[in-house]
Amino acid sequence: MTQLQDSFLTGVPTGLLLDGEWVRTERTLEVDDPATGMVLAHVSDADVSDGLEAVSAAHRAFGPWAAAAPRVRAEVLRRAYEIMSAEAEQCARLIVLENGKAWSDAVAEVTYAAEFFRWFSEEASRVPGDFRLAPGGDKTIIVDHQPMGVAYMITPWNFPAAMATRKLAPALAAGCTAVLKPAAETPLTALWVAEVLRRAGVPAGVVNVVVTSEPGPVSEAILADRRTATLSFTGSTPIGKLLLALTATRALPSSMELGGNAPLLVLEGADVEKAVDGAMVAKMRNGGSACTAANRFYVHESLATEFTAAFERALGALRIGSGLDPANDLGALVSIRERDKVLDLLERAAEEGGRPGPAAEVPATGAFIAPRVVRDVVHGQTLTRQEIFGPVAPIVTVESTDQAVELANDTEFGLISYVFAADAGEGIGVARRMESGMVAVNRGVASDPAAPFGGMKESGLGREGGFAGIHEFLEPRYLAVDL
Ligand code: NAD
Repeated sequence: MTQLQDSFLTGVPTGLLLDGEWVRTERTLEVDDPATGMVLAHVSDADVSDGLEAVSAAHRAFGPWAAAAPRVRAEVLRRAYEIMSAEAEQCARLIVLENGKAWSDAVAEVTYAAEFFRWFSEEASRVPGDFRLAPGGDKTIIVDHQPMGVAYMITPWNFPAAMATRKLAPALAAGCTAVLKPAAETPLTALWVAEVLRRAGVPAGVVNVVVTSEPGPVSEAILADRRTATLSFTGSTPIGKLLLALTATRALPSSMELGGNAPLLVLEGADVEKAVDGAMVAKMRNGGSACTAANRFYVHESLATEFTAAFERALGALRIGSGLDPANDLGALVSIRERDKVLDLLERAAEEGGRPGPAAEVPATGAFIAPRVVRDVVHGQTLTRQEIFGPVAPIVTVESTDQAVELANDTEFGLISYVFAADAGEGIGVARRMESGMVAVNRGVASDPAAPFGGMKESGLGREGGFAGIHEFLEPRYLAVDL
């Protein structure tokens, strides 16, 4: 493999961010471009002592940052929003290089990611409190909110910018300091985001970044350290449960954004064209590598043939290739390993009786995979049970709305559901029966920095974004006062 000669990458930090300084370690880890297999960079690889140094820096910085006026914190975040928006193209390029996704997906991610800085710059000054006479009249109840302290943040590779800002923005707005551990597959974007915050005026130690090839031991040490006050994790359900067990030993507050298995319902009387448009976004955003990706499609028997054919045509029209070419609609998955997982699932589906549609040509090198509809899938088979994380759409035909709802809810996950119905009224009625933290009605995307993102059941604990997001980093403080 050769070193990619990309002059743009020379300006991107590749060290650890500790106490406001970029620090090089002797040991490095390699970051690859999944579309070409080429090496993009060698990034400093933190060990346990680097992780603990990051906690020390964040702990030292906490007092002054927590005491800073909310407006001061708001203005730093606002500047970060402005820098990120002005340099969106650079960030998108970085995301494409290390993650592989399509250019349009990367651009959309940067917009979404930057919006968290803007939303929480506005929220920093709006944390509500409470001041009232107790019902018994014996005291005054005052409730305000204090920042928790050092927040440890772990993010996945599928949205390397947005998953970082969705945690950093509310934490910083609340007055917390941060130790961010991005996924080893896509650390460059997180390092770039940290540099944006530095340029926006975040004081030394308020944001620290540790990239590591040993997430287990480093996280264990950080979580065991009494100076760490909270954990915010986004990733798979098995790793989330492992971390919950660790946090339990210290009764450490934690917010968990975990895996999904989103159902997409196309109900009797739904507008098929609208449902196909929505399905394309719900399934194909990020090439299917999204916790919110529609994972299984329950289509009413009266529409199944028409919907499936139209969906397959739309998938077949996608241009597949390097995300650096904006003309391509579908880029590479994050790694050959992830691509092979999806190919294995397809094979399994065929063994179980599913009928995958034709596969389009994909570039010979890199982690590319053709999008496929799989017909004749029966609820309970592998594709309806497991997060696919790729461009594969299993279709299950249903006889009624009640059956669709029952099958959709028959899962341990509960992040998001999609409902396509004849009208919004019916759609809302069905949405209220879905066991998920979010429901998109007659549309293929729900995520918005101004709305609470999060799941029920094994999809997680807590909410990010919206009015709730900042409270994941605040502790209510009740004062009983004789007045
Ligand atoms: P993953 O759980 O393998 O990794 C997520 C993060 O955890 C990475 O930073 C990784 O380095 C770290 N990690 C791995 N082992 C660890 C350990 N033992 N201790 C501490 N940290 C550890 O998930 P992934 O493959 O990177 O991402 C895909 C998963 O993330 C999917 O299940 C997806 O649904 C989920 N996800 C959820 C959301 C959400 O908001 N609910 C958003 C994006 C992705």
